[in-house]
Parts: sequence; structure tokens; C-alpha cells
Amino acid sequence: MQKLRVCDARKQETVGQQACLQGWIRTRRDSKGGFSFLEVNDGSCLANIQIIADNSLSNYETEIKKLSAGCSVSLEGEIKESGGKGQTTEVLATSITVHGWADPEEFPLQKKRHSFEKLREWAHLRPRTNAFGAVARVRNSICRSIHDFFQEESFLYVHTPIITASDCEGAGEMFRVTTLDLETIAEKACQLDYSFDFFDRPSFLTVSGQLEAEIYATALGKVYTFGPTFRAENSNTSRHLAEFWMIEPEMAFYELPDNMDVAERFLKRIVTDALDRCSEDMEFFNLRVDDTILATLQSVLDNEFVRLPYTEAVEILEKSGVAFDFPVRWGIDLQSEHERFLTEQHFHAPVIVYDFPRSIKPFYMYVNDDGKTVRAMDVLAPNVGEIIGGSQREDRLDVLTSRMAEQDLNAEEYWWYIDLRRFGTVPHSGFGLGLERLVQFVTGMKNIRDVIPFPRTPGSADF
Ligand code: ATP
Ligand code: MN
Repeated sequence: MQKLRVCDARKQETVGQQACLQGWIRTRRDSKGGFSFLEVNDGSCLANIQIIADNSLSNYETEIKKLSAGCSVSLEGEIKESGGKGQTTEVLATSITVHGWADPEEFPLQKKRHSFEKLREWAHLRPRTNAFGAVARVRNSICRSIHDFFQEESFLYVHTPIITASDCEGAGEMFRVTTLDLETIAEKACQLDYSFDFFDRPSFLTVSGQLEAEIYATALGKVYTFGPTFRAENSNTSRHLAEFWMIEPEMAFYELPDNMDVAERFLKRIVTDALDRCSEDMEFFNLRVDDTILATLQSVLDNEFVRLPYTEAVEILEKSGVAFDFPVRWGIDLQSEHERFLTEQHFHAPVIVYDFPRSIKPFYMYVNDDGKTVRAMDVLAPNVGEIIGGSQREDRLDVLTSRMAEQDLNAEEYWWYIDLRRFGTVPHSGFGLGLERLVQFVTGMKNIRDVIPFPRTPGSADF
């Protein structure tokens, strides 16, 4: 018999078909007429399908009347038109096999609704809830759109290393990678000698694939990376993870405005696809998580992103009259509260802030003619704040090396990066986008720990 997923069995055109369905019981309701209603979910969509189990089934008294939330079943039956509210089809079962029981006294998801905080304790069970199922499907849709978008725009997907000996910006706090036996070293209090270490030098988990992506962009034109990224910053916030996924396009012959165009087109495409492919899940987020999310996303699609020089952003913040925790003046890095004010309160739209002070930005960003600012851009999005950070890269050899000296970086370690400016240098640009912040932006989920299956945060890496 043909196996159908619940999302397919719910379609009108399957009425009359014999099918096999497999999934987990959400609820059981017994009717006085000698039959039971089972709600079954298989994760293929948010909705359950209703199964009618008649007492003529051989295991009706012995098994079916004992089914409870969490039990796994395979069932066969005929798909019928349903008169019930919110469903087009239901299944009249001819047989039901129970694979696994879930003791209602012990199964944690027996209770209808738990807080997201509580559910974090059950990373192994939370995907069986409506919210985490919906997040998983939307996250999957976003990943598919990421590849679709870049592939359709003729970008090459390249893989950059996860283990690296260079610290991309001298900025990120990095996790160390070593095969040295730290316990023995500590015990014997001997000197740390990296020549005994696996890579012969201090090595780390990457904070960004940008520098390596530049190598490929300056050979192949347009490239993107999409992979895991690590930051050991000890920030326990609702938008920082120690391990997250980053999308980093890098384009030769692109200047800052071209970079902004890609970022805007990209975000709009992701939103369009999510609304289109995951409409049921998106309705759920609007109903249960953030009742403005659909309106917000629609307005993101309908309007152009605001493009705002940093200097003007500072003026707006200074004139706002808001008492920010971090006082605003020209030269500071924008804090989350400033970012959110600009995008949520002032413009009610995504904002691309650009031309930041050179003193707060890394060495590889292109220095403007004013000498004071660099061609950096941050895309600020409602609900999230900074979702994208990018720049036009410094492609002039002399400016790059003097910027490195200014930031006390050892040019010898970056000899290969400098070579890209010595041999056939070109204007080029790119940006980094955190996948999890993107999922937060699309779903309205408040905490970044709830949009990645297994969050890694300070003090937490269980499973
Ligand atoms: P923030 O100021 O918010 O800490 P950042 O400026 O350090 O971010 P970038 O180095 O510009 O971040 O990284 C590019 C993008 O990667 C960010 O815009 C964000 O979407 C994402 N990102 C950075 N750090 C994290 C993190 N710890 N957890 C999740 N996503 C992150
Ligand atoms: Mn940034």
C-alpha cells in the first residue's frame, strides 16, 4: 500500500485512496458510538490528520483505547472527505499497528503547552511540538532558498575551512583547537610548545570564512560560503550563539551599493519563499508567537530598505530624545538598542547603515576619501537588530598594509591576503549573514536558542 505523508493525505485529491500513514499520536478522543478519534502528526506539516478507529478493529480494546500523546503508529485505511472544521480529509482506519508506547505519566509533552524555556531542557523531544516543528520546516525552507538564490544568480558555492590559524578580524573571541594534552601540561607545569601540537601553531575554529572567500571571488567572480561558524564571546543574549551558521557571499567587481542591492534582494527572496512555501507555519507564528510578524514581513517586501549613512544615524539617535543605556555620539559602535530604535521605531523598515567610523571597523574595509570612514554596511531588521554585516573590501595595497599596521596586525601572517592586492587586485565586496538571526527575523521567535536544533551557549553544550 502507498505510503502517504500527512501533508499529502490532507489534500482533497487523495479522497477515495487507500493509504498507509505513519507518525505520532497527538490526542485520542473516544466517542460513545464505539469508535475513537486519533490525531496523528508526522512532522510533514503543522496540521494533524484525524483517524477514525472503529471498535471492529481487532486491537481496539487492547491497544487503540490505550493510545496517548507520543505513541508511534502505522495505520492503513481509506481517505475520506471530512466534515470537520479546519480539515478536508480524514482516514477511516482498517488496521493500526502500535510501534512504541509513551507512558502518559512520564511523557513530558503530555501537557498541552510548555514555555520555550522549559522546552530547552528537552532538546530531544521539543521537535515534536508544533512550534519547533514549524521552526524546523521554515529553517529548512530558508536554507533551500539560500542556495536557490545564489545558484540562480550564478554564484559558486565554495567551502572555507573550519579550522584556521588566522583570526579573521583580530576581533572575534575564538575557540582553540589542539591535540595537546592539557591535563598533563597543567600537571607537570611545563612550557606550552606548539611544535608538538597538531598544526605546529595555535589553531582555532573559524569566526568567518570571508578572507578565504575573497581568494575564490578574486578568481571566479561571485562566490558564497554557507557553513558553521564559532565565537567564544561570553554574551548571554537572545541573539548570540557560540556555534551558528553563516552565509557569506563575496563578489568581485562589486562596490558597496552593489553589495547593498544583493543583500536587499536576498532578504526579500528569503521572505517571499517562506511565506509561499510555509504558509501554514507562518500563520502559526503569527497566531502564537508574534501577531505582527506577517504584517512586518509584508511591509519588508513592499518597501525599499532605508539606506542611511552612519553619521545621519547618529544624528537621528541624538535627536530622538530617548535615554539609551549606551549614550550616543559620533564614533561609537551602534548597540542593539540603537539598532532596534532605528529599524522598529523610527523607520519601521529594514535599514542599511553605511560608512562607519574607520576606528571601530576591521582593517579590510575600504577607506573612504574623507579618511574618517570606511565602506562598511550593517543591515538592521525589525525584531533582530543587526542581521547582516558587510563591506566593500580594501583593494589598494598601500592602504591595506597601512591599515594593518594601524591595527597592530602582523603583515607576514597575512601574506596571502596581501598577495590578492599585489596580483590583479579588483574592487570587491561581500557580507556575512547569520542563519539563526535570519530564522528569527522570518519567524518572530524571540530567542536565538529556539531557532537552532541544538544551541551552544556559554555553559551549555549537552546535546
Ligand atoms: P553583533 O554586533 O550582533 O555581535 P557582529 O558585528 O559581531 O554581531 P559580524 O562579525 O558582523 O557580527 O558577523 C556577521 C553576522 O553574523 C551578523 O550580522 C550576525 O547576523 C551573525 N552573527 C555574528 N555573531 C553571531 C553570534 N554570536 N550568534 C549568531 N549570529 C551571529
Ligand atoms: Mn557586524
